[in-house]
Amino acid sequence: MKVIIAGGGIGGMSAALALLRRGIDVEVYEQASVLKEVGAGIQISPNGCRALDSLGVFQALKALSCDPVRKEFRLWNTGKAWPLFDLGKSAIEKYGYPYLTVYRPDLLDTLVNAVQALKPDAIHLGACAAGLKQDDTRATLVLADGREIQGDLLMGADGWRSVIRNTLWGECNPAFSGMVTWRGLIPMEVLPGHMQAHVGSTWIGPGAHVVSYPLHRGEIMNFVATIENKIWTANAGSEAGTIEECLSDFAGWHEDVQTMIRLAPSLLKWALMKREPIERWSLGRVSLLGDACHATLPFLAQGAVHSIEDGVVLARCLEQGLSMPAAALQRYESARLERTSRMVRGATSNTGRFHSPELATEASAELYLQREWGAEPIADRYDWLYAYDAENVAI
Ligand SMILES: Cc1cc2nc3c(=O)[nH]c(=O)nc-3n(C[C@H](O)[C@H](O)[C@H](O)COP(=O)(O)OP(=O)(O)OC[C@H]3O[C@@H](n4cnc5c(N)ncnc54)[C@H](O)[C@@H]3O)c2cc1C
Repeated sequence: MKVIIAGGGIGGMSAALALLRRGIDVEVYEQASVLKEVGAGIQISPNGCRALDSLGVFQALKALSCDPVRKEFRLWNTGKAWPLFDLGKSAIEKYGYPYLTVYRPDLLDTLVNAVQALKPDAIHLGACAAGLKQDDTRATLVLADGREIQGDLLMGADGWRSVIRNTLWGECNPAFSGMVTWRGLIPMEVLPGHMQAHVGSTWIGPGAHVVSYPLHRGEIMNFVATIENKIWTANAGSEAGTIEECLSDFAGWHEDVQTMIRLAPSLLKWALMKREPIERWSLGRVSLLGDACHATLPFLAQGAVHSIEDGVVLARCLEQGLSMPAAALQRYESARLERTSRMVRGATSNTGRFHSPELATEASAELYLQREWGAEPIADRYDWLYAYDAENVAI
């Protein structure tokens, strides 16, 4: 069996690796002329680490990343801290894997190296998907330069503006959520000593929140700041921003937040996109994975992790269904649709939890955090995510 994958991001590469490891041939077609991830951080929760371990790359990634000791909430103005999760020892005790914070290019490079070790010529660059064709015996990826690439199956891993999804199901790109995220990377050594701890912090306040965590063996601090009620006019999903504009968005926030903004060598602004989960992914010999089918707000930090899980489950379904590929794709979709839809809805509902008006003062925040972020509600909202085992879940 040969699977054609459109899109060589984290999702496409994870699927390619999962398939090659099960002896299924793969060709990846990526529009960019070089393989590149955004220079930013990514959180890989225990379910993601478990899936990466089943792909044989967890140890390599762990060596490049950072496993912070804990995650905590900080109040936007006073900086008061409340513990959220222990990310190291107790994550391992509870879920079998830690919670890593990773530099995105390290993750993509690790996946690409593993794919190329199994099939050196699997990845084709400068190859932009423009459409598809299929019949009872094969699926064809049509490239913008007119080439037609045939395989037994075609997977759209081409991100939130997926051409493959829009060709299958009609144009249904996610829409601007009204929220903008600022992203920057700060060399750890330039931060004041008290800000260099290996801790993930989520600063929460009415209408906005700021996430910071260490990356790349602790050499970099990742800065991600989200604010509501913004306007987005650019055609692209991101654009350069200025430190002054970011400081004005977070005026009145704690001095540590202002310090991170001032010390960021550059800052990019991202439009956050949102959409209700789509109801169907697969048609005949074509299906979807990653943001192409479950684009999400990043407030559960699960978009990429779920795209890695997709690849593992897809490969298991295809391995079991080599003689009936279209049925195997339906089984893959059934195994993944409910979980990914719950994840997308959960991320949306975290918007209000991170940005509640009750966070205005320390007194009201204290009561709010006890109610919404105590041990029990956290377990209800996160255990089902972190305990999932893509390699062994029923399919
Ligand atoms: C601010 C922010 C923070 C986030 N934090 C986290 C986090 O901590 N943890 C987490 O798990 N997730 C996080 N996410 C979500 C995560 O980034 C995405 O879910 C993930 O990158 C999706 O991977 P993908 O491979 O499906 O899509 P993409 O990363 O978008 O990759 C798609 C690939 O397809 C290529 N492509 C596009 N169109 C075509 C075409 N026509 N032909 C060929 N190739 C094409 C693109 O060039 C790209 O390489 C975050 C997102 C944001 C915005």
